[in-house]
Amino acid sequence: MKKILVKYSSEITLKGLNRKTFEDLLIRNIRQRIGKEANIIKESGRIIIENYTDETIEKLRKVFGVLGVAEATVVEKDVEKICEAAVDHMKKINFKTFKVECKRQDKSFPLNSLELSKKVGGAILKNIKDISVDVHDPEVTLMIEIRKDAYIYSNYLEGQGGMPYKSAGKGVLLLSGGIDSPVAGYMLAKRGLELVGVYYHSHPYTSERAKEKVISLAKKLSEYTGSFKLYVVPFTKIQMEIIEKCREDELTIIMRRFMMSIAEEIAKKEGALCLATGESLGQVASQTLESMFVTNSVVSMPVFRPLVGMDKVDIMDIAREIGTYDISILPYEDCCTIFVPKHPKTKPRLQDIEKSEEALDIKALIDDAVNNVEIINI
Ligand code: ATP
Ligand code: MG
Repeated sequence: MKKILVKYSSEITLKGLNRKTFEDLLIRNIRQRIGKEANIIKESGRIIIENYTDETIEKLRKVFGVLGVAEATVVEKDVEKICEAAVDHMKKINFKTFKVECKRQDKSFPLNSLELSKKVGGAILKNIKDISVDVHDPEVTLMIEIRKDAYIYSNYLEGQGGMPYKSAGKGVLLLSGGIDSPVAGYMLAKRGLELVGVYYHSHPYTSERAKEKVISLAKKLSEYTGSFKLYVVPFTKIQMEIIEKCREDELTIIMRRFMMSIAEEIAKKEGALCLATGESLGQVASQTLESMFVTNSVVSMPVFRPLVGMDKVDIMDIAREIGTYDISILPYEDCCTIFVPKHPKTKPRLQDIEKSEEALDIKALIDDAVNNVEIINI
């Protein structure tokens, strides 16, 4: 009989009295992703899945908290039966060198791990021609786990690791169509933070396709999170007001302060306790330390910037791995050139910016934007 064996992060098992809460949440998240039909069984340090479909393994690999999965042949804990099943399993694989590794969760099993490995390895050698044992660099490692039953597998596939989604509270992610913010969202979601996305849309200066692109990114993230709520905030009026009433070189920084304030308002409505962006130190003018200080000063919630110390190439690598890169590089600009100053300030001073903002009716602009959001549930 075949079953899927799911390993989960050791961080979850280290949670002491809270361990059960984390495990239950992980199981709920798995259930939501793989559907009602499958049986999900918790068994000391593993989750076992029965009655699954062809897509189940790939879905499980995207659930945060899952360290890895393997489809195992499951037999009774009897040495002869284990040997027989191991030989059958290996006969279906093409290989020249192998080794056997055993793990005993059930310590009452008569053979210890080494003895069982030797026994099973011997049976394989006896029954399959032209193969040999290589303990250092085998083509195939056959795993045998002795639990309530014996689990035999050789194809262990890694998952994402991390903590169960929603185990760490809720935050608002400023999600643009760029490369960085989806990666930032992925990293925080992987630590268990539930994300609510906010996208600032400058219609008609940014196209519907730019918005569609952000929706596609949210969809991609939802492959990991299970669902995703996206706020689309009308931003044109605010940008026009800033252009009209403030200095050109302060446009970006003031615009970013509005983004933060609006995100904080949405966070309050959502019961979220932090904001998150894809900023990386020094990447562009608005991401110098001085700019970040001024942007940060307008809100009181913590702002998480998981990419702050990362190089662009490394961020791009993650984007490729998680599947957001190809969407992010689609050519629909997220900010029309009229909204980008020719020489943005790289070292803005808070008091100067606050002075400039006196020309704006900030509260009314924020309220108006927040009252006119479009909510998209994915
Ligand atoms: P990204 O690749 O994530 O767009 P970026 O390198 O283009 O980032 P900026 O445009 O300065 O950098 O944006 C910095 C951060 O501000 C983004 O990572 C994102 O979190 C947020 N942000 C920028 N533009 C928008 C937008 N239109 N809607 C929502 N968030 C935005
Ligand atoms: Mg951007």
